[in-house]
Amino acid sequence: MRRNTLIIILIILIVMAPSCKNKKQSDEVIGQRAQQICEKSLILDSHIDWPEYVLDKPEDISMQTVNGDFDLVRARKGGLDAVLSVVFISPEYETAKGRLMVDSMLKLIRHYPETYPDKFALAITPADVKKNFERKLFSLIPCLENGSPVGDDPGYLTYLKNQGIAYITLCHSKTNQISDSNFDADRRWNGLSPAGTGLIKEMNRLGIIIDISHSSDSTVSQAVRLSEAPIIASHSSCRYFVPGFERNLPDDLIKAIAEKRGVVMVNFCTQFLDSVCMNNTAEIQNLLNSKKLSYDSKEGSELIAEFGKTHRLICDSKQLVDHIEHIIEVAGIDYVGLGSDFDGVGPLKPSDVPDVSGYPVIVSELLRRGYSEIDIEKILSGNFLRVWDDVIAMAGSLNNSTGKEE
Ligand SMILES: [Zn+2]
Repeated sequence: MRRNTLIIILIILIVMAPSCKNKKQSDEVIGQRAQQICEKSLILDSHIDWPEYVLDKPEDISMQTVNGDFDLVRARKGGLDAVLSVVFISPEYETAKGRLMVDSMLKLIRHYPETYPDKFALAITPADVKKNFERKLFSLIPCLENGSPVGDDPGYLTYLKNQGIAYITLCHSKTNQISDSNFDADRRWNGLSPAGTGLIKEMNRLGIIIDISHSSDSTVSQAVRLSEAPIIASHSSCRYFVPGFERNLPDDLIKAIAEKRGVVMVNFCTQFLDSVCMNNTAEIQNLLNSKKLSYDSKEGSELIAEFGKTHRLICDSKQLVDHIEHIIEVAGIDYVGLGSDFDGVGPLKPSDVPDVSGYPVIVSELLRRGYSEIDIEKILSGNFLRVWDDVIAMAGSLNNSTGKEE
């Protein structure tokens, strides 16, 4: 009996040996492989707020900057190749001011390819992104966060399309003329407004991607049903990990977006990733408000540092990858990507992915969890580019069937 037991244990050890060896593959080896994958693969991030950040604190993003999460030096270090550059319009702006801001930020985005044609290039189609990648040029892709500048004139969408806007986030933190916002108690439209319904159809016809990050649940389910093309969440995570937080997507809406062949791009904000971080962030924010301090002031930073000694405010890339994996489990590998929200979330970033140099850390964690290079490349850009291609193809077929031209 004892001899049999010994033999069984020996057999188990022999069978287990290769997998134990694999598991012992050092972090260093995984890190090197991740770095190689990031260098050779096309990496696209679908939401970085650098234009607003740079307008506010001017610095040249073609070189290493002091502030902010994004510049070309750190992007190259992280293997990043293409960024949806967000034209962010505050919900406080009237239509006219919103349109002025659209033009200011578009000018800023274009400034880089015009000034540094050997480093940056504008991309207004997926083919541009791939071509720029082959030429080692960094792709800047304009997009609009908040459709409020459209006002009551759907014709403005054509202007935006002609300016190269790839996607429009229907609303921001306030309900607007298009849809209800998930940050706003005012749910006056119960989803999309009548004008918003018309704009969805017009965006389909023009080949502009519909982005439902910031929209209420009702808006998301109506938009996904109404749109003929796939839709995206450019920077949203999973509600599964932060129950009750409507800014993240519940499983049924993740599935609905995937069934329409769209994509959910995971937001890196630690508040979105972890419910403990969410609650503690709310507590420190109230504390800052009560003392009338901003988080980036000296006193504010000191208060946050003190609070952080006893309260978890940030998590790391493991929780971020948990969200990626959850979307894969709920919907499949073809429906997830990266939409960091860098330059838009202040200090609330994963401890090991603090800026655009951090994509290899995410890839390392995906490798550790057994994802293949093919799957990783889908997450890094393949899924988003597929959706964008489909949106443009759908616009072509809609225009052919109606005989309408842009
Ligand atoms: Zn946002």
